[in-house]
Order: sequence, then C-alpha cells, then structure tokens
Amino acid sequence: MNVVLRAIGNVFWSMPKGLAVTFKHLFKKPVTLDYPHQKKPMSPRYRGLHYLERYDDGSERCVCCGLCAAACPADCIYMEPEENEKGERRARIYEINMLRCIFCGYCEEACPEEAIFLGREYEFSDYDRDSFIYTKVQMLVTSPRKDNPFKWIIRKVRRVYGVPEPSL
Ligand code: SF4
Ligand code: SF4
Repeated sequence: MNVVLRAIGNVFWSMPKGLAVTFKHLFKKPVTLDYPHQKKPMSPRYRGLHYLERYDDGSERCVCCGLCAAACPADCIYMEPEENEKGERRARIYEINMLRCIFCGYCEEACPEEAIFLGREYEFSDYDRDSFIYTKVQMLVTSPRKDNPFKWIIRKVRRVYGVPEPSL
C-alpha cells in the first residue's frame, strides 16, 4: 500500500516539482555559448598563439638574438639569422614547435626587442604534427598589432628591473 501511495505521490508532487525547475530556467538568460558561432572574449592576460611584432615603420622587431630560445624551458624555439638589405640582422628561420610549447610566456619576457608576444588565439588545432611547427611567415604580423594592453606594463617592468637573465 505504501509503495502505491509513494508512486502516486511521485506523479502528483515530484514530477511537477521537477518540471517547475525546468520551467524556471527556460526563460533565463543562457549561461552557455553557441560555440563556434559565439566566442567568449579571452582575458587580456590569456597566453595563446605567438606572434612576431613589427615596428611602426613596418620593419621586423626580431633581431634573432636567441634570448627567447635560451629562456624557453621547453626548448621549442629554433632560429637562424641573416642580414636584410640594409645590413640589419633579422631571422631567416624562426620556428616554434607548438606541441612542445607550454605557453609559459618566458620568451615574451626575455625578448629585449619586444618582438615576440603571446596572442589570444586558441583555435589552432590540426590533424598532423608538422602543422604545429609555426614558421616566421605564419607568426610575423603584417602591420604592428596594438591589441595587448599589457605591453606598456611589460615595457615598464623592463625599464625598472631590466631584462631577466636567461637561465642557461
Ligand atoms: S611560451 Fe614558453 S614554452 Fe612556449 S615558446 Fe615561449 S618560452 Fe617556450
Ligand atoms: S628574444 Fe626577441 S629579438 Fe631575440 S630572437 Fe627572440 S624574438 Fe627575436
């Protein structure tokens, strides 16, 4: 008898109670996003895919000094230097293996030229390992990016404390 009463109670009390919870949320603003059509803006401090910055005149900031590679704990940066038509040093090859990278940001911190930054891109999944070796052509921006509001803080820290010594 008790079982029957409990079953009747479930139908007349528990089910409407559960549905009330459902209806309560039906007209609330959703907390989920319709990804990939909607994307959540990343935090300014988010460290995503790297990019190589240019000066305002369009010339490359990177002088292929190797400090970023020396500071990298994952040993994932490879570069070879060359001279441009003005005799200035720049990178002929500059590669980062994104499969090894741990996105620590040490390369960004070590760079005396403010040439390398970690951007906010996080959609760079791929199907084969070779696609994760990012080359200079892929990372070098076409015009100076001014989207990192923390650049001025990084510059100020460098002015006050100097460039950190790479740990060799
Ligand atoms: S973010 Fe860290 S691990 Fe990745 S390339 Fe820079 S220093 Fe290396
Ligand atoms: S530390 Fe900066 S200037 Fe030196 S090689 Fe790395 S990105 Fe280029």
